[in-house]
Amino acid sequence: MKNDIIVSTTDVLQDYTIQEYCGYIDASSTIGSGFLTDFTSSWTDVVGAKSKSIENKLHIIKQDVINKLCEKAKRMRCNAIIGLNVDVDEISSGQRMIFMITAVGTAVKCKKMDGENVDQNVSSNYLKQKIIKIPMYKSKLAKIKKKCIDKDPAGSTEFNEIIEELISDEVCEFVEKEFMECLTEAILYNKLDWIHENTVEVLESFDVQKLSTVFFECMLDLSQDTKRILEFRKTFSYKRFCEFFASILSLNDILSYMQKGNDYFSVIIVYQLLKEFKKYYTEEDLNTLEQIKSILQTKYWNGNLDISNLLSNDRICICGNVLKNGDTCTCGEKQSISYTTYCDKIAVVNHLDALISELKEYFKK
Ligand SMILES: [Zn+2]
Repeated sequence: MKNDIIVSTTDVLQDYTIQEYCGYIDASSTIGSGFLTDFTSSWTDVVGAKSKSIENKLHIIKQDVINKLCEKAKRMRCNAIIGLNVDVDEISSGQRMIFMITAVGTAVKCKKMDGENVDQNVSSNYLKQKIIKIPMYKSKLAKIKKKCIDKDPAGSTEFNEIIEELISDEVCEFVEKEFMECLTEAILYNKLDWIHENTVEVLESFDVQKLSTVFFECMLDLSQDTKRILEFRKTFSYKRFCEFFASILSLNDILSYMQKGNDYFSVIIVYQLLKEFKKYYTEEDLNTLEQIKSILQTKYWNGNLDISNLLSNDRICICGNVLKNGDTCTCGEKQSISYTTYCDKIAVVNHLDALISELKEYFKK
């Protein structure tokens, strides 16, 4: 994400005057080298992993800790951190390796020095020029979205063009919702190699919180239509799309999404997100994972169901009963899911179970 906080290892900032010192801040995280990003792979075979891959992991987690520190500074209404120091300590326990990454610094409020100061009028004119263009971009995006829905090949070309314009006009962060909706439709009709560097650049210019909100709004919207979900899942970009979002979303984001829409698509998307989860799980994540699991085990859940007895065209009622030959359930509920989705749900719960017990074992030490 674009960071608007100036971070420096020194105590002075060139070209800036420090106006207020707001205090010492710190952030830390622990990881074990044994936790791979992809939890479908074996969890235990990494102790002897190549040092290169550990190095990469450390780099990611370091950046993560610095980001946490920046968030703290932002909350204090500061715009810079000086005297940054990042420490990595190895706390080995038995055969396992655990790393603790700590970042410390001083949060300050600073201002650019006079010579370089942006004139107030210039800056407000600049902002005005941006704002004037926003409605135009919103309506352009809506038109492109419609073209994608109508399977008009022009939609894809125009989408690529508008990305360039959004970037050069620096207005991406004003059209998040429209952009996301357009992107989903473009992926849905597979006319777009969404992972194009420019697409990522646009997404990265969004505020993280806003981006996760619009992402889940789009997913909830998509989940209203079963046929569209299945189409979406079949697209070439689906996996890359989930990978990207897994790298920016937190487990808590996923949890609150589950609390809003715990059916059908949620199961599919959560499965993919957890699989692609790029961050390393920490001890605090255990609780969140448990909560996600318990939510998965509500609607449509029948713990005693023997899947091997199910036929591919069977459906599962919201109450957990099996429905044969398109029957409606005696419980009176009309909502049901297919055999395949039910199996997906079981797969997610099983993965979560394995993950949770592995983590518990790991953190016991
Ligand atoms: Zn029922």
